[in-house]
Amino acid sequence: MADERYNPFTGRRVVAGVGDSTPAAAQLGLEPPRFCEQCGRRMVVQVSPDGWWAKCSRHGVLDSTLLGRR
Ligand SMILES: [Zn+2]
Repeated sequence: MADERYNPFTGRRVVAGVGDSTPAAAQLGLEPPRFCEQCGRRMVVQVSPDGWWAKCSRHGVLDSTLLGRR
């Protein structure tokens, strides 16, 4: 259960060994995630001049500045 993950851009469950499509802009950290990686819920996303943050109602805020990417 602990390694269950979801694609932050499609909300689909990530299955090991199966290729998943992540937008190029997203891979560069330019695009904010829209779904929580841990539960697949749709997050509230806010883009700011210096990055973005996304909030999961269950797992809290994910901040781009904390991830070290913009
Ligand atoms: Zn979550």
